Formats: sequence, C-alpha cells, structure tokens
Amino acid sequence: MDELGRLRTELERTKSELDVLYEISNAMRTTLKLDEILYIILTGVTAHTGLGFNRAILFLVNEKDKIIEGRMGIGPENGEEANIAWTRIEEEKMGLDELIDAFKNSSSVLESGFNRQVRSLKVSMQDKDENPLSMAVLEGMPLHLTHQAMQKYKDSPVLKMLDSKELLLIPLKAKDRVNGIIVADNFITKEPITKDDIHMLTMLANQAGLAIENSRLFELTAERAHTDYLTNLWNHGHFQFILQTEMEKSKAIKTKLSLIAIDIDNFKIYNDTLGHQAGDKILKDLAQLLRNQSRKMDHVCRYGGEEFTIILPQTDQKEAYMIAERLRMDIQKFPFLNEEIFPNKKLTVSLGVASFPENGQTPADLITSSDKSLYKAKNQGKNMTCCAPVY
Ligand code: GH3
Ligand code: MG
Ligand code: MG
Repeated sequence: MDELGRLRTELERTKSELDVLYEISNAMRTTLKLDEILYIILTGVTAHTGLGFNRAILFLVNEKDKIIEGRMGIGPENGEEANIAWTRIEEEKMGLDELIDAFKNSSSVLESGFNRQVRSLKVSMQDKDENPLSMAVLEGMPLHLTHQAMQKYKDSPVLKMLDSKELLLIPLKAKDRVNGIIVADNFITKEPITKDDIHMLTMLANQAGLAIENSRLFELTAERAHTDYLTNLWNHGHFQFILQTEMEKSKAIKTKLSLIAIDIDNFKIYNDTLGHQAGDKILKDLAQLLRNQSRKMDHVCRYGGEEFTIILPQTDQKEAYMIAERLRMDIQKFPFLNEEIFPNKKLTVSLGVASFPENGQTPADLITSSDKSLYKAKNQGKNMTCCAPVY
C-alpha cells in the first residue's frame, strides 16, 4: 500500500509538471513578440503554478559580437519584496494565463531594479574557464553549480551580482545552435535544486529555444519588409507609416516636426555616362552618408529612385534648415566615385524643407509642401536648400 501511495504521488506530480509545460508551450504559441516570449518563459520558470524557482534570468547569445547579453530577469530583490509579490499572486489566484495577460497590459516588470541590473550584464563568449555562461553556451549542457562549484567562477560579474548559493544554468537551443541561457535559483527560500527541477527546466528550455528563434526570424523579416534593398534605408511604404505616426505624436504633444526632401542634381548624366550599376553605387554611398550625418532621432528614407526624405521629430523649420544645409555641405565635400562627370565636377543635391504644423496638417500636404520647396531649389540653380513659405 505504501508503494502504491508513493507511485500515486509520483504520478500526480508528473501530471502536474506536464500540465505546466503544456500551458507554457501553448502560451508561447500565442505571440511572436520577443519580449512577450521571454516573459512567458521566465514566468513559467518562476511562478508557483509553474516550476517555482525564486528568480530567473534569460540571456541571449549575440553571435555577431560574440557576447552573451542579459535580456530579462524576474525576481524579487529581497525576502520582503518576495513576500509581497508572492502573497499577491496567491491571493489573486493568478495562474500563468493571468500573469501573462498582466504583462501584456502593463510591462512594469521591465522597470524593476532586478531587470535593469540584468540588462546591463554582458559577458564575452570566450574565456569559458572564467565564466559559467560561456561554458554553458559552448558545451550546450546544463550546468548545476553548488556553492562549492561556484568558487571556480568567483570573479564572474554575473555570479557576483546574483550572489546565490546554488544556481542552475540551462542552454536554450534552436536546431543545433545555442541561442540563449536560462539561469535560475532559489535565492530567497534556499530550497535545494533537485534532479527533477533540472529535468523540467531542460524540457522547457527545448521549447523556449525554438520559440525565441521563431520570434527573431519574424522580427528580422518584418524589418526587411520595411527596408530598401539597395540602400538599407526605410523604404517608401515605411516612410509613409513613420510620417503618419510621427505627425500624430506631434499633434498629441503639440510639438513641431519637419520633413526634408532630397534629390540628386543631374543624376541622369552620371547614369547615362557610367551606367546604372555605377549610379547604384552612388545611391548606396549617399544613403550611408545621410544616415551617418543625421541625428539618431531622425528617420532617413529612400523615397524612390534618387530621391530621399528625412523625417525630423521635434524640429522646427529653422533647425531643419540648418540640418539640411549641413548635409548639403557634407555631400558636396564627400569624394564620390567619378564625380568629375557631373557638370560642376562635384556630386551635389537640392533640398526642400517643410514643417508641421505651418506648412501642412496631413502627411500628404507636408510631402507636397517639401516637394514644392525642392522644386524651387532646382529652379533657382540646384545645390541649395529652400524652405516652404510661412504665411
Ligand atoms: P535634376 O537635377 O533635375 O534632379 O536632374 P536629374 O538628372 O537628377 O533628373 P531626375 O531627378 O529626374 O533624375 C532621374 C534620374 O535618376 C533617372 C535615372 O537615370 C536616375 N535614377 C533613378 N532611380 C535610379 C536608381 O534606382 N538607380 C540608378 N542607378 N539611377 C536611378
Ligand atoms: Mg528625381
Ligand atoms: Mg535628380
């Protein structure tokens, strides 16, 4: 009978574990937004109705820069905070579903001190002897660190920040590649990490790695769809979208906004002499120059052909004119390939500036207005900036 009782308990535990995994993997299927996916994973790891760890952190592998970056962390900073959070969850009978909905409505977890600390963590992927994260990534195996085992990594900034007595690191995999790590511990309750915990977290990690990969591919595809293939600037469609959004914002917070239209002078001559491919190279170089010489807050777009636009939020016409003139001078100075072909031996551009609200109340009106100014610049001899008139 004792044996039967034990088996029954075990069966019930296994069933509830499977329920949790099922619930988490279903939740992950409801979204492709990376932040939401990461939150679902970490909620599953920390919720009492989930795996029940005290704290969990998700690191993502940045292959390009060969670093492992802290992306999100859930966990109380001390026992008192833990009690408040856990009591609330218990009292409100919040299951995984409710926790996830709460996140979608307000992302206050992202403002927690713990999460902020986590997001500043960056670890090199080399030197696996000194840091357990690179070890987990390079070996692709779970790493269970007891207090004693941690001595080996006592200089690791991540371990210093966490200050835990026992720690679990589980790599996340998509196909054969490790793309992230979950780090979990029981910082507050000091409950030992069991074989069963490791097993559960590993199963969860297999799902999580794939979900993260899908979401990254989705975000990459969305970005590509908004990008111009030749210049990597925002394309025409996305320009329209940004202008609409920024104008609505400006209206709401009652700030100015400016638009600069740019067109290369006598580009046809260059194309006709050296061919379309040489022309394309110029477009690429000019696009890069425009992006490098613009402020971070400005949106540089390829409007079409050899015409570009820059959306300048919170910028009045006077300031936009100064920025346009600075760009014009930078372009005139830049040594473009074979530019002696142009009539005055230099590649130059003409620019038109229009500003919200005085030159146009709608995106279409503002575009027309900047176009008219550009036309004026062309008519008055090119290589200059004209502004829409203020009545
Ligand atoms: P203007 O000073 O009046 O602007 O003279 P322009 O010769 O530059 O005339 P326009 O602005 O009408 O330029 C159109 C020319 O730009 C036609 C074509 O040769 C070139 N062009 C447009 N799109 C592309 C493109 O995608 N690649 C290349 N290589 N050339 C393009
Ligand atoms: Mg043109
Ligand atoms: Mg032109």
